[in-house]
Amino acid sequence: MAKKKESPQGTEWNYSPSPESTTHVKLEKRYALFINNEWVAPSSKAYFPTLNPANETVISEIAWANDKDVDKAVRAARKAYQEVWSKLSGAERGKYLFRIARMMQEKSRELAVIESMDCGKPIRESRDIDIPLACNHFFYYAGWADKLEYAFPTKNPKPLGVAGQIIPWNFPLLMAAWKIAPALAAGNTVVLKPAETTSLTALKLAEIIKESGLPPGVVNIVTGHGDTGAAIVNHPDIDKIAFTGSTNVGKIIQRSVAGTHKKTTLELGGKSANIIFDDAPIDQAVEGIVNGIFFNQGHVCCAGSRLFVQENVAEEVIRKLKHRMESLYVGDPLDKNTDIGAINSKEQLDTINRYIKIGIEEGAEIHQSQCAIPSQGFFCRPTLFIGVSQSHTIAQEEIFGPVLSIQTFRTVDEVIQKANNTPYGLAAGVWTDKGSRIFNLTTQLKAGVVWANTYNKFDPVSPFGGYKESGFGREGGLHGLGAYLKLS
Ligand code: NAP
Ligand code: MG
Repeated sequence: MAKKKESPQGTEWNYSPSPESTTHVKLEKRYALFINNEWVAPSSKAYFPTLNPANETVISEIAWANDKDVDKAVRAARKAYQEVWSKLSGAERGKYLFRIARMMQEKSRELAVIESMDCGKPIRESRDIDIPLACNHFFYYAGWADKLEYAFPTKNPKPLGVAGQIIPWNFPLLMAAWKIAPALAAGNTVVLKPAETTSLTALKLAEIIKESGLPPGVVNIVTGHGDTGAAIVNHPDIDKIAFTGSTNVGKIIQRSVAGTHKKTTLELGGKSANIIFDDAPIDQAVEGIVNGIFFNQGHVCCAGSRLFVQENVAEEVIRKLKHRMESLYVGDPLDKNTDIGAINSKEQLDTINRYIKIGIEEGAEIHQSQCAIPSQGFFCRPTLFIGVSQSHTIAQEEIFGPVLSIQTFRTVDEVIQKANNTPYGLAAGVWTDKGSRIFNLTTQLKAGVVWANTYNKFDPVSPFGGYKESGFGREGGLHGLGAYLKLS
């Protein structure tokens, strides 16, 4: 079916379907656990299906690791740490990381297609954002592996030991790269658990790791549900827990590690403010709003899910935003024209729809784009709410979907107070022509990242992390490397 897309000037273009080919994708029917560079059947013999959320078909089966399997992986990681990895020079560790980065680049097309199939994100994003950034993280940290003493002069940097790493489903391969690359560069070994619904690219990374010749046991990938993650967190022979996921699970983890020797970093949820002043370039700001909340179906921890618009431009911004929403395609993640792909799971779609219902019940005014959505699979139209106040549930709680709540403000002090009035503190965006205002807001907004006249920009060099209930510790840059080192 041809699709229509309208330009901001009102011109209509018709797009024919343009699906990315899947013929180059090699997937096993069933994946075992990756321990000690071997594919090991789970001791329970249990497997669970992973679905393509765009058509609800089973793509593959994934092993479910219980505490015995996690113990096996931790033992492998400990042995590799003591006997091999901690004895290698930084230059040797760097060579492995560079090799893995190059091999990921060679397989980037396959990785992008698998990511879109398993996760539901548009191929344009997996191809142009997730996979290149994942490779760049390996390249970046590979470069630091032999320069730790220059990175942390006078600090005598030493690895921590075995790192247990648990990641969410919204950026599967990228989150794996954020975790594995700095840990290995710093000289640690790893046991990583991907999210239940999106394990495939981490398992493809395991294939790359095996082929790269990385010594056995340095990276172990154990798949499973939340209880597999809990088994990692509670294992006594783990030295560091790195968790990215929801604030609720982050709190459980923090309670579990309290009083132990385990170092912890928690990258948790968000309810980030995107703030538009009346002197902002409005058309660019509208693109920034779309990028901030509809990008990746709103499955972004730092999504700009609370929009604050200065009152005298609110009418113009909302009108242009509604117009722009009409030109967003919602549909097949593998189609290169798709802007908004599938919601990752039925559970997540139900959660989003529950919040939309609450928004309506609490009296906010809803607007959804009129676009067609596929009848099969898990899809949600881009949605905005106006007439929202601070006390509305949709302005307070993380929805993790393409749902925007809009409030207006008059003064700088008012918007700072409103933007900071949340338990979270992950990110924020500021749109204005005035440099002095940007500096004022970056110091006063309680957010780990503040973007100015842009949104959702990532780079391996730049640290990322939260304030308050968005967690603690930083990933990316030198801060992310330091989180895997003893610095005395
Ligand atoms: P989640 O439910 O907290 O799950 C995250 C990971 O933890 C998954 O691998 C999950 O396994 C595992 N897990 C679940 N219960 C556990 C337990 N009791 N102990 C140990 N591990 C456990 O989060 P999600 O729904 O996958 O991801 C969405 C959340 O991640 C959002 O809140 C988002 O804001 C946050 N996020 C934050 C950042 C950041 O950098 N701050 C980045 C991305 C996402 P299962 O998959 O099997 O449940
Ligand atoms: Mg899946």
